[in-house]
Amino acid sequence: MSVKNPQTREWQDLSRDHHLAPFSDYKQLTEKGPRIITKAQGVHLWDSEGNKILDGMAGLWCVAVGYGREELVQAAATQMRELPYYNLFFQTAHPPALELAKAVSDVAPEGMSHVFFTGSGSEGNDTILRMVRHYWAIKGQPNKQVIISRLNGYHGSTVAGAALGGMSGMHAQSGTLPGIVHIPQPYWFGEGGDMPEAEFGVWAAEQLEKKILEVGEDNVAAFIAEPIQGAGGVIIPPETYWPKIKEILAKYDILFIADEVICGFGRTGEWFGSDYYDLKPDLMTIAKGLTSGYIPMGGVIVRDEVARVVSEGGDFNHGFTYSGHPVAAAVGLENLRILRDEKIIERVREETAPYLQKRLRELNDHPLVGQVRGLGMLGAIELVKDKATRTRYEGQGAGMICRQHCFDNGLIMRAVGDTMIIAPPLVISKAEIDELVEKARKCLDLTLEALK
Ligand SMILES: *Cc1c(COP(=O)(O)O)cnc(C)c1O
Repeated sequence: MSVKNPQTREWQDLSRDHHLAPFSDYKQLTEKGPRIITKAQGVHLWDSEGNKILDGMAGLWCVAVGYGREELVQAAATQMRELPYYNLFFQTAHPPALELAKAVSDVAPEGMSHVFFTGSGSEGNDTILRMVRHYWAIKGQPNKQVIISRLNGYHGSTVAGAALGGMSGMHAQSGTLPGIVHIPQPYWFGEGGDMPEAEFGVWAAEQLEKKILEVGEDNVAAFIAEPIQGAGGVIIPPETYWPKIKEILAKYDILFIADEVICGFGRTGEWFGSDYYDLKPDLMTIAKGLTSGYIPMGGVIVRDEVARVVSEGGDFNHGFTYSGHPVAAAVGLENLRILRDEKIIERVREETAPYLQKRLRELNDHPLVGQVRGLGMLGAIELVKDKATRTRYEGQGAGMICRQHCFDNGLIMRAVGDTMIIAPPLVISKAEIDELVEKARKCLDLTLEALK
């Protein structure tokens, strides 16, 4: 790649000589060098070459309130001056963590008023793995150890996160643990075959019951799922899926974990994906939108009955140096205040999400598009060779070609295989949605051209 700014090359050299990047093809990265992002404002990024890019992914699903919010900067600076660090171990606490725990439980579903803080979503799921097994042990059912998860789910990148997730590429690299089993995902477009979508949704849900019976109810601790799979490709389950899952969960004495790391804090137009689908989780993983990504923080929201049992169990031998970090907690508090006071989630629900969804679906007429789906501030565009049969461009890397065209034309869309996905900041305006959809159409044209 030729560069205009000599500094770009210097930074790319630093990348090659010194940096090991997360989730990257190292060979490719060394050859091409990374794109260097240098600043951001609102929903736009700038790279080191001076290109302005619409961030259709809110960073990595994080930046709910948009870039450049001075209030968050102030909240961090004020807290750093007052108390930059202290821990929550061994019977101490500090105001920001306690106040954030209250603020989070105020917006959490009814009956979920306890929060355990972590540094990330992955650490949240690690915490959950240990907490649910601990919970059953305290209740005198130590055999209840197995966690049922879904193929192509994403639950993070620590060992427990990778094992809970259903990504085969991660499992293959020391990413498995005993006691975690997987069932098929509710991905009709990719895996529904000849089944009508509604019927496929019921089938996919029934796989949970089948697995519970196979493992034995007495051995199952919990079922974990994202309300909408994010990293797997913005997979919106068929409408029949969650009602059937709820029916099955009601029949068996197992815990339900909703991984809300993406859906939480407004992405569906409700505070949580569990509110949108009326799920009744026992534990919810949070991160990303909690601080709008301005500073790392995650956590677990715990149903009161589970918190009560765990509280009676004495020592919980688990925690992180940065659990409830005061600066992160102060930023989280301010981020929640902004979401609430500016009625950002209401605006998503009533105004901008319906507009985004309507405009995105206009892309359905494009010859390369097999399906457009979306909900709230989430969207997916399936690239196909043949619409009627949902046939892909096998082995041609259509998604990666499209992603490159997007980047070159000032739009970030992510490619999951041949599924293009978006999750813009929640504050995106209607005019910016127009910009997003117009750029997406142009890149679909360029991709189709390249595939011929
Ligand atoms: C991103 C993500 C995680 C992991 O969060 P990290 O902060 O990257 O550890 C877990 N679950 C879901 C659903 C995610 O999208």
